[in-house]
Parts: sequence; C-alpha cells; structure tokens
Amino acid sequence: DSLLEFRNIRVVYDNAIEAVRDVSIAVPEGGIVALLGSNGAGKSTLLKAMSGILYTEEGVIESGSIRFRGEDVHHLAPDELVRRGIVQVPEGRRVFASLTIEENLQMGGYTRSNAAARERRDKVFALFPRLHERRDQIAGYMSGGEQQMLAIGRALMTDPKLLALDEPSLGLAPLIIDRIYEVIVRLRDELKMTVLLVEQNAQRALDIADYGYILETGRVVLDGTARKLAANE
Ligand code: ADP
Ligand code: ADP
Repeated sequence: DSLLEFRNIRVVYDNAIEAVRDVSIAVPEGGIVALLGSNGAGKSTLLKAMSGILYTEEGVIESGSIRFRGEDVHHLAPDELVRRGIVQVPEGRRVFASLTIEENLQMGGYTRSNAAARERRDKVFALFPRLHERRDQIAGYMSGGEQQMLAIGRALMTDPKLLALDEPSLGLAPLIIDRIYEVIVRLRDELKMTVLLVEQNAQRALDIADYGYILETGRVVLDGTARKLAANE
C-alpha cells in the first residue's frame, strides 16, 4: 500500500515550460524510493508540487493528484504538511548559520513543548554523534557535510512519517555521502520512516533505495526495483 502517491501529475511554469508531464509515482510505507535523472528532469518540481510552495514560483499543477494517506496534499503550506507527517529538506543544506547546532535543532521542534523537543533532539543526536559532540559550535563554520546532516537532523525534529530529500549528496565527498546514506538507511530500518530521495547520482542512490524512478525531461522513462535498475545502469 502506498503512503504517498503522485498520479498523472503535470506541472507547467508561467514561462510555459512543462516541467513535469504525466508522472505517476508510488511510495510504499517504510521504503526508500529514489527519484533520479539529470539536471532539469523535473525532480525538484515534483517535490515542490507536494506542497503549496510551487505557487510561489508560478508553477501550476495542471492535472493529476498527490495523495498522502489517501488525502490530497498538493495545496498545503509547509507547516501543515509537517503536522500531517511530511517534511522536506530542500537542496542546498539550509541552516541558520549564526546559531549553534543545538539551537538549529531546537528551531526544528517549533510545534512542540520544550520537554518534547528536548527528547526529540536527543534522538537526533543519537543518529548523528558528530553533531552531538559539536552541539555548541556555530553552524556556519561547519563543513558542507555536517551542515547537510544538520539540515536533515532539523527536519527529523518534526518526527515525520515521510522525509523527502532533495539531492542531499550534492557537492559532497564520497566518504561523507556514505555517512549521510548510512543515516538514511537507519531511518528506514530502525525508525520505520519512509524516504523519497532525489538524486542525480543514480548509482549511489540505488545502493540504498528499494525502488527507483528515472526521469527525463519531465517524464518517467524507467522504473523498477533498485536492484534491477542498478543492473541496467
Ligand atoms: P531537476 O530538479 O530535475 O533538476 P527541476 O524540477 O528543477 O529539475 O526543473 C525542471 C524544468 O523546469 C527545467 O526545465 C527548469 O528550468 C524548469 N523550472 C524549474 N523551476 C522553474 C521556475 N521556478 N520557473 C520556471 N521554470 C522552472
Ligand atoms: P534544480 O534544477 O536542482 O531545481 P536549479 O539551479 O535549476 O536547481 O534551480 C534553482 C532555482 O531556480 C529553483 O528554485 C528553480 O525552481 C528555479 N529555476 C530553475 N529553472 C528556472 C527557470 N527556467 N526559470 C525560473 N526559475 C527557474
């Protein structure tokens, strides 16, 4: 059964670019689904279509539906998505550069009581020991890989059912990517989270994904189990 389902989605921007053309994607509960394809294929647009933020870029869903637990979600504001259990980590590892690691995490727990946020924060620290060791350091001085981990950690403060990551490995060294991917696998295996992973680097993403979709100029050109897609690469 799918936790999240895109059905026949078409997205057009106001410059008439048809960024997504009739895309259907199913994300089963408890799995890692990879959304792959080169720059401009429509991956980010699909993630943005999952929330009301697409409208801020003059993008319009012309047809199709996006359902999370059977409910339509495409029009919701980010904080409403969070309330329902969806959180997105956009491309570019955005952190509050002048705040400490710990303060950054606290910002992610905004809807919770202090006690609940502290409990949640300790769970995030358990996943990212490096962040725990450096909890009092200023985020802006950390390496790109640590900032990416912090961006993911902050999203996890909302205790999501579904985590959507837009190119978490972009611009990072292979060893750092391994560490980030290890955490993503633990989210699935230990915390039973569902992950939608957008990446350009198909080979690496298919190492940890269960299922993959390959997009090209707005269309799904291939999909299958990660094992099968990796063999075809
Ligand atoms: P990807 O994430 O796979 O790199 P995008 O979803 O960013 O692809 O882009 C898909 C297509 O939509 C590209 O042709 C891109 O130039 C276009 N596009 C993306 N964002 C906008 C926007 N805000 N306004 C107009 N066109 C856009
Ligand atoms: P990505 O392809 O990974 O989304 P880009 O560097 O293409 O990253 O896009 C960066 C930002 O510019 C995004 O917010 C995207 O939606 C927007 N954008 C991309 N292409 C266009 C375009 N043709 N016109 C206007 N905005 C665009």
